[in-house]
Amino acid sequence: MTATDAPLQQHSIDWQTGRVQAIVTETSRVKSIILQPARWSGHWPGQHVDIRLTADDGYQAERSYSIASPPEEQLLTLTVERVEDGEVSPYLLDELRVGDALEFRGPIGRYFIWNQTRGGPICLVAGGTGITPLMAMLRHRKMSRPNIPASLIYSARSLADVVYWDELDTMARGDLNLRLVYTLTREHPSDWNGHLGRVNEVLLAENSFTREQNPTFFICGPAGFVESISSMLVKLGFDPFTVKTERFGPTGA
Ligand SMILES: Cc1cc2nc3c(=O)[nH]c(=O)nc-3n(C[C@H](O)[C@H](O)[C@H](O)COP(=O)(O)OP(=O)(O)OC[C@H]3O[C@@H](n4cnc5c(N)ncnc54)[C@H](O)[C@@H]3O)c2cc1C
Repeated sequence: MTATDAPLQQHSIDWQTGRVQAIVTETSRVKSIILQPARWSGHWPGQHVDIRLTADDGYQAERSYSIASPPEEQLLTLTVERVEDGEVSPYLLDELRVGDALEFRGPIGRYFIWNQTRGGPICLVAGGTGITPLMAMLRHRKMSRPNIPASLIYSARSLADVVYWDELDTMARGDLNLRLVYTLTREHPSDWNGHLGRVNEVLLAENSFTREQNPTFFICGPAGFVESISSMLVKLGFDPFTVKTERFGPTGA
């Protein structure tokens, strides 16, 4: 076992308390929580943590959040979207403060993972906040092997809902091995010259790689989004074993 395999080998993951170091507003409905874990043996891009909240009467609620930061960073970044009437996300966005303690365990997940030792090409397809684990992959790629061919197809409701816009823009500028494609499903600025509407087979075929290049796909977002993209890729002739998926929530982006 190598040091980089360590996060994949854990058999029991204990709860621990992390300290909130910073909270960053990403969009009107999304914030990033930057957490200092008490102990951390590293993670692979794509893994997640479970957060546990405990009320005064002992009632507990647990939810999963992908790690958006790369393994190269000591602090963990979780990027959370507010689900109206949700039990956990409104607390994380509206109540949590810098300096608070947050109970969590992780890293979790052995399937939806990638690191530079696995090489490329990689084609990442995000629906809404499904960008989070894919961002960990892109940040890690940038810090380790930016020459790995990668493409990101990112579907968001509107430009204002695109998380990490500035960072992605900077990342893609000057990186000839990274292709960035946005499609906006609900609203768009009048001068928008990117794609509109849901991801379809043409968009996928034009912005992923060829079958001969043998890309690995990572698709993350609401269940319906993930299922439709996976079926399109299989219809386009890609091997289902190269299509990895992570489902976040019950509704479409
Ligand atoms: C492996 C994994 C990783 C995840 N990573 C992230 C992440 O990085 N960022 C993030 O924001 N979320 C992520 N999620 C989703 C997260 O775990 C919660 O489901 C989400 O925050 C809603 O929790 P809640 O307690 O606020 O809402 P709940 O109390 O669980 O739900 C309230 C209502 O909203 C509906 N609902 C639940 N989730 C969603 C949703 N996503 N969209 C629309 N409606 C919903 C429910 O059906 C219910 O009707 C991830 C989920 C999984 C399984």
